[in-house]
Amino acid sequence: MELKPFWRKSGRSGARYLFVALLMALPLVGRCALSVVTTTPDLRSITEAIGGERVHVTSLVPDAGDAENYVPRPQDIERLHQAQVVVRIGLDYDLWLDKLTSKAANPAIVRGGKGLVDASGGITLLEVKTGGFGGDGHAHGAGNPHYWLDPENAVYITANITGALARVDPAGSKFYEQKRNEFLARLKTMIPVWQSKLAPLNGLPIVMYHNTWPYFGRRFRLNFAASIELKPGVPPSPSALASLLHRIREEHISVIVREPQEPSRDVDFLAEKTGSRVAVMAASIGDTDQARDYFSLFDANVAALVAAFSGHPK
Ligand SMILES: [Zn+2]
Repeated sequence: MELKPFWRKSGRSGARYLFVALLMALPLVGRCALSVVTTTPDLRSITEAIGGERVHVTSLVPDAGDAENYVPRPQDIERLHQAQVVVRIGLDYDLWLDKLTSKAANPAIVRGGKGLVDASGGITLLEVKTGGFGGDGHAHGAGNPHYWLDPENAVYITANITGALARVDPAGSKFYEQKRNEFLARLKTMIPVWQSKLAPLNGLPIVMYHNTWPYFGRRFRLNFAASIELKPGVPPSPSALASLLHRIREEHISVIVREPQEPSRDVDFLAEKTGSRVAVMAASIGDTDQARDYFSLFDANVAALVAAFSGHPK
């Protein structure tokens, strides 16, 4: 296409041609992607997989951040003010979001708003304590929130996200549904691969630092027998550490799982005293360089666990 002669061919009307040409180009270059804000990088990655080029997604918690102890930043409120869709983990995991949305002056993303998605909808929760919502106030009070670490739960997570995207952007509903189906089809081929790699580890006891892995453990028949933390967010006392040391020896527990951002001191102490090996596993996408998306998150964690059990150095 020869643009040059097009706007030069006649003096005054040239400007009008240019204006018309720009208007015609607007639907192509000017269509704004749906603005989505998620609380965690896991939800960002999954939303990007479903939304493709129709969405622009950012996560409030940065890669390798600690979502359960996140301290919101002032610019988060502005991002939420602009957001058309907000996706949260729910339960007690990202309760700090409510304070932010109450200040964001955006009715679409407060509880009950059509742009707010709780990704946990429909999921069968583990470790739900009786005695009321919120428990004792820590991040696991309403049930263990690390549900995305069971890849089968992606069926619900993606359904919740797809529903919200289609609600806010009905023109894209077929597109979102198709992308979701592709995502789930790929997952369906990968889950048996991960299962077969982990099959030799079925039932072998593992110690973890934070109680992150019950969903992962249940799906892959792994025995996460104990946490080093006394309860979520509370480091062990010396006496608790001593009794765990005893237990690791008694029960021949050969692997301890630590997340990259968790403190290494107690883990290294136990490993050194007992000869057990440390597997560094990513609880979230972005926690390690290998865990770049939902699929590589599981690839990397399966590989780290298999390597630790087979005696390779950490
Ligand atoms: Zn937790």
